[in-house]
Amino acid sequence: MKVIAVLNQKGGSGKTTIATHLARALQIGGADVLLVDSDPQGSARDWAAVREEQPVTVVGIDRPTIERDLKNIARKDFVVIDGAPQAADLAVSAIKASDFVLIPVQPSPYDIWATSDLVDLVKQRIEVTDGKLQAAFVVSRAIKGTRIGAEITEALKGYGLPILESRITQRVSYPGTAAGGSTVMDVEPGSDASKEILSLSKEIKGKLI
Ligand code: ADP
Ligand code: MG
Repeated sequence: MKVIAVLNQKGGSGKTTIATHLARALQIGGADVLLVDSDPQGSARDWAAVREEQPVTVVGIDRPTIERDLKNIARKDFVVIDGAPQAADLAVSAIKASDFVLIPVQPSPYDIWATSDLVDLVKQRIEVTDGKLQAAFVVSRAIKGTRIGAEITEALKGYGLPILESRITQRVSYPGTAAGGSTVMDVEPGSDASKEILSLSKEIKGKLI
């Protein structure tokens, strides 16, 4: 079982969008997947509840007991954790439970600077686990057709964590499909949105083997 946490203390960075899509993409790839909603606001649970025949199983664990609670669940191929804003204790608990921490970050210096506390926590854990924990940034909500500035890439590199090749674009289809409790892969298979999510899923899977 591999646990992937999508974390960033900053609200609006695309955690829930990425966590729900990543969970569904892994499932479409044939894996048995559980999505854990660690945000007390319950956005992923709200998302799941909209669709009557929801293929993704979502459970809420919004206490800092994620690591312990996951030991008691039936084994899955993947568990995806949708991170909570702020709550450092929840982030620590999610990091401890994880094999991979994915940090979605909008391509803006303010958003990058805001990740520094999380990056410190993640790096501490990487050290404690002797590198068993992996982590990476993914650029989220990038504007289509624009290049990410060299300064932004440099600022991210300065944190010493890898930046995934895959990147998630700002597209109306993300909130659009979420409104129906669905994903871009279900509603518009073969679209660029669908392709970028499948690419993200593939890239992460490749790192977890
Ligand atoms: P978080 O969970 O980090 O707070 P969300 O995934 O809930 O972030 O995103 C915040 C808002 O931005 C939501 O309304 C969501 O629909 C929208 N959003 C997130 N990612 C994208 C994207 N790639 N394209 C368009 N809208 C997005
Ligand atoms: Mg969220």
